[in-house]
Amino acid sequence: MRPTGKLHLGHYSGALESWVEQQNLLGPTGSSAYETCFLIADYHNLTTSLQTGEIYSHTLDMLIDWLAAGVDPEKSPVFRQSQVKEHAELFLIFSMLITSARLERNPTLKEQVRDLNMESLTYGHLGYPVLQSADILLYKANVVPVGEDQIPHVEITREIARKFNNQYPHPSHGEVFAEPAPKITKFSRLVGLDGKAKMSKSLGNTILLSDEPDEVLKKMRTAVTDTLKIRKNDPGHPEVCTVFSYHSKFSSPEQICSIEADCRAGILGCVDCKKACAANIALELAPLLEKRRYFEAHIDLVKNILFEGEKKARIIASQTMEEVRAAMRLGEISGGNQYGTVKC
Ligand code: SF4
Repeated sequence: MRPTGKLHLGHYSGALESWVEQQNLLGPTGSSAYETCFLIADYHNLTTSLQTGEIYSHTLDMLIDWLAAGVDPEKSPVFRQSQVKEHAELFLIFSMLITSARLERNPTLKEQVRDLNMESLTYGHLGYPVLQSADILLYKANVVPVGEDQIPHVEITREIARKFNNQYPHPSHGEVFAEPAPKITKFSRLVGLDGKAKMSKSLGNTILLSDEPDEVLKKMRTAVTDTLKIRKNDPGHPEVCTVFSYHSKFSSPEQICSIEADCRAGILGCVDCKKACAANIALELAPLLEKRRYFEAHIDLVKNILFEGEKKARIIASQTMEEVRAAMRLGEISGGNQYGTVKC
């Protein structure tokens, strides 16, 4: 996840919730089903903004939201991409294994260029799925939890892993990389309060995980509903209503059923419906808010979590790069062992 500061409900529903679920999933023997790593993709920020002045405060704000939502640093190292130099190193090698034509066909990139009205692309932006491939494969990931829009990137990662394995079999154990599979998150996209697009800070249509209940209600009052339901007694169409899409996520099954029926029958008005929705969201966010307050009051603890996560990540990343160099026969020492490598 890019460090863009405080997170919103779209991040929570689209990623964070499933990360935590995956982190806590137990396997048949009672131990964790997955070893999980969570990356703060600060290099990726540079693809759309060269401003780095607030990157550290945004990183800490985002990390606090991760921790508040249940990311457990004991189970899952959290770390910044820029602080593990092997990301850049593997990115460079992978850049040679894919053509620019393949990257230009990436549908996610085309969408981004259209949404951001970009007239030209930097070399780094075109190559960001390659950097993502390095982010994933450096930790030998088998599974990548993603939203649907990220599936093309996982496919690029699989292609790069295959190409590397074919080109550079490891001298002792064959394939260096497994081909990771995408794991689609259950609730991929949450529409913004304006009803027109996904939640996005730049569009100003979000509810933040750190919003207090009165702020949630204030924002909910601006949410777009069924435009044909003007008076309380007009029959509504929940399927086109932003608020109802939030109910579907944050309200109980019984509430969802009665809201749907009462809206259609013209018994329920939008004002009351929004109040109920805001209350349910605030209820969901209450434990996160409490944890956020704790971490804000113990910011050195948050910094230390990052420090320790980066130490762990460097160990894994440097081991992978040793395998990569051995497979590629980079750094062999003349007259030394057949597969001797220079250790950096
Ligand atoms: S009553 Fe609720 S679900 Fe129906 S249109 Fe209004 S806000 Fe939407």
